[in-house]
Amino acid sequence: MQIGEQLYAGKAKSVYATDNADILLMRFRDDTSAFDGEKKASLARKGAVNNQFNAYVMGQLEKAGVPTHFEGLHAANESLVKRMEMIPLECVVRNLAAGSLCRRLGIKEGTELTPPTYELFLKSDALHDPMINESHAATFAWATVAELGRMKELTFKVNDVLKQLFLDAGLLLVDYKLEFGRYRGDVVLGDEISPDGCRIWDARTREKLDKDRFRQDLGNVIEAYEEVARRLGVDLG
Ligand code: UDP
Repeated sequence: MQIGEQLYAGKAKSVYATDNADILLMRFRDDTSAFDGEKKASLARKGAVNNQFNAYVMGQLEKAGVPTHFEGLHAANESLVKRMEMIPLECVVRNLAAGSLCRRLGIKEGTELTPPTYELFLKSDALHDPMINESHAATFAWATVAELGRMKELTFKVNDVLKQLFLDAGLLLVDYKLEFGRYRGDVVLGDEISPDGCRIWDARTREKLDKDRFRQDLGNVIEAYEEVARRLGVDLG
């Protein structure tokens, strides 16, 4: 596989063309950021850990019938993915209260959410990723009503699979963010699933093992990501 020009560079990943028009290369960098890019750092091994973590999780989801963009590992910090047209929305499911839900609604961190909540945000750093609803998304043509229905259905299917997978590893999947794209007329899971876009707590002690360690200066950020990966049985090479 020949790697071509860089098409896009986000805050933590860069995307390259390949000699196959349907396939892109996604490089996971060590860069990390929080608070709309205001807090930045480079964390050694993060790119490789998140890439291999994502590969494992996407594989588990494919097995469970969730269509994903993942095609295969290319290097420790690189994967091949389907070229999709990304939908500019973030889908967030919460099993326990944390982060912006606590700030917005005054809910105590750690409160169990039954049933889990489902939220949509517009991807826009300039607007600070505002929360939106399905009506906004349809009116402004960010996604069709049919796509929104499928995104919600797939997001909850992901929750069923991952909640159990994590629980079996002694971990609580507190919340997470998913992004979807369009591929040959279908809605397909894209972006990444890693401790950068999920909140993951130790099931017994509720110790934070995700990006909150970076946001809140708790230290040992990558060590925590590696611990989560190890418990799930991810091959870190
Ligand atoms: N999240 C993300 N990218 C974003 C916003 C949120 O990956 O731009 C993830 C975040 O890591 C958490 C979940 O989505 O697992 C819910 O985030 P929340 O709305 O609580 O926002 P935060 O407190 O992170 O600002």
